[in-house]
Amino acid sequence: MDLPICDICAKTGVLCSVCETKLQRGQISELDVEVSKALYGIGVEGIGFERAIDTKNFVIILTKKEDIGKIIGKNGDNLRLLSRKLGKKVRVIGTENMRDTIYDFVAPAQITAINTVYMPDGNIIRRIKINKKDKKKLRMDIKEIERLISSLSNDRVEISFE
Ligand SMILES: [Zn+2]
Repeated sequence: MDLPICDICAKTGVLCSVCETKLQRGQISELDVEVSKALYGIGVEGIGFERAIDTKNFVIILTKKEDIGKIIGKNGDNLRLLSRKLGKKVRVIGTENMRDTIYDFVAPAQITAINTVYMPDGNIIRRIKINKKDKKKLRMDIKEIERLISSLSNDRVEISFE
């Protein structure tokens, strides 16, 4: 997996015409650029991520499973350095498997069920049920979690408590 910008841009901090065009077209975001540079800056090379998302309390880095550990670093060292550079707590979430991704977004709250509802019009709704005792454990706003998961999967997401 590659970085959203090329290695040279991550290293120099100046965007080449290819990366600049991607940014202008909205294929990558300013935050993707910031995170790429920050990763390079702390010496994490040869890894990549899909995209970075800014939430109220966190910067979330979405990546393939094999890169999660490398981004986090030994004892979470890289994560701490990244947080300092980006000025926000950082979480790394894998994107291979939608189910795992959903669990990661909601953790440490426990999911009791995920039901996939196929609508007659072809749309898909994912109903995520969370133990109501875990409501306080959610690290993001429910609406925000719904929005983020649905932006990754293109499905509608509804979270409820039981
Ligand atoms: Zn570039």
